[in-house]
Amino acid sequence: MNRAPSDTDLLATRIAAGDRTALARAITLVESTRSDHRTAATALLDMLAERTGRSIRIGMTGVPGVGKSTLIDGFGTMLTALGHRVAVLAVDPTSVRSGGAILGDKTRMARLATDPAAFVRPSPSSGTLGGVAAKTRETMLLCEAAGFDVVIVETVGVGQSEITVADMVDLFVLLMLPGAGDELQGIKKGIVEVADIIAVNKADGENARRARLAAAELRAALNILGPRDPLWSPPVLTLSGQTGEGLAELWSAISRFCGVAEGAGTFAGRRAGQNVRWMWTMLDEALRRALLDHDGVAAAIAEGEADIVRGIRAPTAVAQAILQLFTAR
Ligand code: GDP
Repeated sequence: MNRAPSDTDLLATRIAAGDRTALARAITLVESTRSDHRTAATALLDMLAERTGRSIRIGMTGVPGVGKSTLIDGFGTMLTALGHRVAVLAVDPTSVRSGGAILGDKTRMARLATDPAAFVRPSPSSGTLGGVAAKTRETMLLCEAAGFDVVIVETVGVGQSEITVADMVDLFVLLMLPGAGDELQGIKKGIVEVADIIAVNKADGENARRARLAAAELRAALNILGPRDPLWSPPVLTLSGQTGEGLAELWSAISRFCGVAEGAGTFAGRRAGQNVRWMWTMLDEALRRALLDHDGVAAAIAEGEADIVRGIRAPTAVAQAILQLFTAR
C-alpha cells in the first residue's frame, strides 16, 4: 500500500543527504523528553540504522584548561582540510548539575564552528550522566547518517564521564599537561587504563622541554604497569593545539590504532560489546520508568522508601514486594 511520506521519513531523507538543518532538528528530537518526540526519534534512528557506523569515533578527555577546545579546533580543521567531515559532540557532566557548562560553549571552537565540513554540538544540558550519554550516542548515530566520518566526543576529566565516554567510542585520547603532577594523578585515577593514546599538550615555547620530560616519565610509568593489551601499548605523544605541532602524529597514531584493531578483529568486537551494553542500559532505564509510571506500583515504591528510611522494613523485602506487585498486573 502506498502512503504519503511522514515528517520522519522526510527528515531521514534530508539527513541522509547531509542536510545540516535537518540534522539539528533531529538532534533536538533526540534530546527532547516529550514522548511524541521520543517516538519520532526512535523511528528516525531505526530508519537511518544502515547508514550509521561508518565513522571513527574518538573520545577525548582532559582536565579543564588542558587545551581541549584549542586542540579539537586545530585538529578538526586539519582533518576537514584532508577531506574528512568532522562532528564534535560533548558529554559534560557539570552541565547536568549547574546548567552552565565547561564544554557547552560552541564559540570555543571558532574555526570549526564556521567550517562547512564540521558540526559542533554542545553537551545536552539536562538529565543524569547516563541520560546525557544516551542522547550523545544517538546524536553520534545521526551525525554518521549525515555523512560525518570522524566523530570526536569530548569530555572533561573530572571523574566518571570518561569511563562512560570510553564505552561509546572506538578509541580514547587522554590529554595531559606537562609537569602538573598529572601523570601520576591520571594513573591513580585509572583514567590511563581507558586511554588508547596519551598526549602531553601545550608542548610549545618554554613548555616544550618539560612536555618531553613528562612524556618520558609517563612512558616509564606505563612500562611498569605493563601492557593492558598484547597488541597495543598506548603511545605517549607531545603536541601543541596552539601551534599545530604533533597534530599530524596524533592522526597517524589514531589511524594506526584503527588498523591494528581492525586487523585483530577487536574493532568490530568492541562496538558489538558496546551495543549490547547499551541495549541493557536502555532496558534498565525503561524498566525503571515503567515501574515509576505505574500508579499502584509507584505508590508502593513511595511507601517502601519511607519504611526503609524509618528502619521498619528491609530493602530486599521491599524490592521483592514491589516487583511482585508489578508483575502481578
Ligand atoms: P579546555 O578547557 O581544555 O577546553 O582548554 P582551552 O582550549 O580552552 O585552553 C585553556 C587555555 O590554555 C587557554 O588560555 C588557551 O589559550 C591555552 N592553550 C590551549 N592550548 C594551548 C597550547 O597548545 N599551548 C599553549 N601554550 N597554551 C594553550
